[in-house]
Amino acid sequence: MTKSAQLTEVLLDRRLASFNRLWQMFMESESRIQKSGGKVVAKWRLFPPEIIYALGATPYDLLLHEGMTKTTARDARTTAYAIEAGLSADSCIWNLTATSNTLSKGNLTPLNMFVATAGQCDISSKTWQLMSRNMHKPIYSMEIPIYDAASEKRAISFIKEELTSLFERVGRRFGHKYSERTLREEIKRGNEIRKLLLDLTGSLTHDHVPMTGLEYFLTHATAGDYLQEPEALTAILTEIRNEVMKRTEQSKAAPGITNDPVRLYYVGMAPQDLRFWNIIEDSGGAIVGCDTYLPLFYSPIPENGSLLKEFAGWIWKMPHHMPSLDRAKSLIPYIKQQKPDAIIIGNVIGCRNLSSSDRIIKETFREELGIPVTSIEFGSSEDVTLLEPHIKAFVEMCK
Ligand code: SF4
Repeated sequence: MTKSAQLTEVLLDRRLASFNRLWQMFMESESRIQKSGGKVVAKWRLFPPEIIYALGATPYDLLLHEGMTKTTARDARTTAYAIEAGLSADSCIWNLTATSNTLSKGNLTPLNMFVATAGQCDISSKTWQLMSRNMHKPIYSMEIPIYDAASEKRAISFIKEELTSLFERVGRRFGHKYSERTLREEIKRGNEIRKLLLDLTGSLTHDHVPMTGLEYFLTHATAGDYLQEPEALTAILTEIRNEVMKRTEQSKAAPGITNDPVRLYYVGMAPQDLRFWNIIEDSGGAIVGCDTYLPLFYSPIPENGSLLKEFAGWIWKMPHHMPSLDRAKSLIPYIKQQKPDAIIIGNVIGCRNLSSSDRIIKETFREELGIPVTSIEFGSSEDVTLLEPHIKAFVEMCK
């Protein structure tokens, strides 16, 4: 997000003191990479950031920092640069906005390279190619096969080869020699953040939900690139975890969450407009889990054994690499553990990842969990507050 972003229309939990520091860190991501002086790699949101740190470079979750809207009256969604550069106007709004913002900065953007992971977001892969061409910056694409339990052995060895080749080729370009020790250290650092995020997710199982949806979403969105400073992030997330745990010990819900709210699990693409999370609580609901960034912290990456092989196996099981039915089934244990009363599936217009299989996912959840499921769609130009009547009616129905 740009420095000028102001949250005049978004309600933050000001009583969660440590969260304000995290918010500050979020806001400063762009200026941090501008000042870093090192190599900066733009990554798709679910590309594991440890890979880039292990290359001695800094990851930047481009869609998050350049695509999120700023929720102010001045918040015009700029998509013109992306369309002029050749991105279809039908693409998802995250890609349109992030590409436009990035291209509008021209040579001022400090990005040195784009990395894409083929196999799950075809639009982002196209977008990265387009930006690479327009900005004369290299692009590296890592292939990850779509999950199929029958081909596990072959797939893991393929991903391991892809990782090896990435470390060799990008390392050569950056003048950085791959070392297993460095990767192990990066994985260890990343796992500390993963464990904190899992603790925060665990805190939402309490009857008195201690965090609002907005704070929960923003804390787990940090998994995209660790906000360029894993150690500083670990310190802040530890404080947030401690504050949140204190609330659970005192059986205190976060401000704005009603007594006995409808517990909602959110599955799918992130809403671009942060006001969505406030709408949930204004409607009498409470977010008790969300899978948007879950594939990055669904479990710690193994730190021992044959590192690349274990890491390849972890990547293979990231839920978003799975075909819809497998993905829905793999999410069920995570959803169950959060004890939701209902599920909201979020689709983004222009995204083919979930919308083409929305029905099958909905039916799988209904059959396996026996709770109400609804889906919503985020448009490219509509005001997110237009979804409020739908969410209110759904929450009412679930009471
Ligand atoms: S919303 Fe869909 S198309 Fe857009 S970045 Fe996410 S996965 Fe890709």
